[in-house]
Amino acid sequence: LQVTFRKHTLFGGRRVVRAVNDVSLHIAPGETLGLVGESGSGKSTTGRAILKLVPIESGTVRIEGQDIASVRGKALRTIRSQMQMVFQDPYSSLDPSSTIGASISEPLRVHRAMTRAQMRERVEELLELVGLRPSHADRYPYEFSGGQRQRVVIARALALNPRLIVCDEAVSALDVSTQNQVINLLEDIREKLSLSYLFIAHDLAVVRHISHRVAVMYLGHIVESGPTQRLYQSPAHPYTQALLSAIP
Ligand code: ATP
Ligand code: MG
Repeated sequence: LQVTFRKHTLFGGRRVVRAVNDVSLHIAPGETLGLVGESGSGKSTTGRAILKLVPIESGTVRIEGQDIASVRGKALRTIRSQMQMVFQDPYSSLDPSSTIGASISEPLRVHRAMTRAQMRERVEELLELVGLRPSHADRYPYEFSGGQRQRVVIARALALNPRLIVCDEAVSALDVSTQNQVINLLEDIREKLSLSYLFIAHDLAVVRHISHRVAVMYLGHIVESGPTQRLYQSPAHPYTQALLSAIP
C-alpha cells in the first residue's frame, strides 16, 4: 500500500507527505496482527486505507480473496460491512444524545432490513456478548464508565458480523486494569466468532498479549514483522530494539 497526503502549509505552499510507503500486510482468519510504531509513523493511515477511508495511491486490499477496488454497489456494501474500526476515544465515539441501544443498532438500520423487535433482540445479544446487560440498551453514554463505553463501541462494530476489526488504539485511553479487561474481551470475541484484528497501539506491552504476530512501523515503512515471541525476544531491527528497550 502507498498513501500520500498533499498538505497545504500556512503560507500557501504545498508539502507531500508519504504516510504509508510500500506496506504489505497479511492477516489470516482468526489472527491478530499487532501494529506498533511511534506517533506519526503511519499506523492509523494504514488502518484507514484498509477500510477505504483514505484514498490509496497504489496497492490492493483484499478481504477473503476479493479485491475491494473491483467491487461496486451491493457487493461493496457487503465488503464494507465485513471490516469495521474501533477507535481510541470511548467518549467521543458515541453520540451522547442517543441511547446505547440506538448507537449499537445504527449499522443495522443502515445495512439490514429488520423489524424493531428483531433489532432489539440483536442489540441485546450484542450487549451480552460484550459483557453488558440487556437493560443497558435504554441508558445513555454519560451513565457509563470509559471501559463500558468501549464495550458498547465494540458491540456496535460487531453488529454486522465483520471478518476484520481494525482496533486503532482501542484501549489506549483506559487505565491498565480496564485495558486488560477489554483485551480479554476482545480475545474471547475473536475466539468465539473467529474474527481477525489489526491491533494498532503505540504501547508494546498492550500489543504483546493480544497479538499472534507484530509488525513494527517507522516513517511509513514496516521495518520488521514476525511472531510476537520471536520479535520481543530477539528483535532484528535497531528501531525495534530501541522501542523494546524503552519498556520499563
Ligand atoms: P499516532 O500514534 O499519533 O496515532 P500514527 O502512526 O497513527 O500516529 P498517522 O495518523 O497514520 O500516524 O499519520 C502518519 C502521517 O500522515 C503523519 O505525518 C500525519 O501528519 C500524516 N497525515 C495523517 N492523516 C493525514 C491527512 N488526513 N492529511 C494530511 N496528512 C495526514
Ligand atoms: Mg494513530
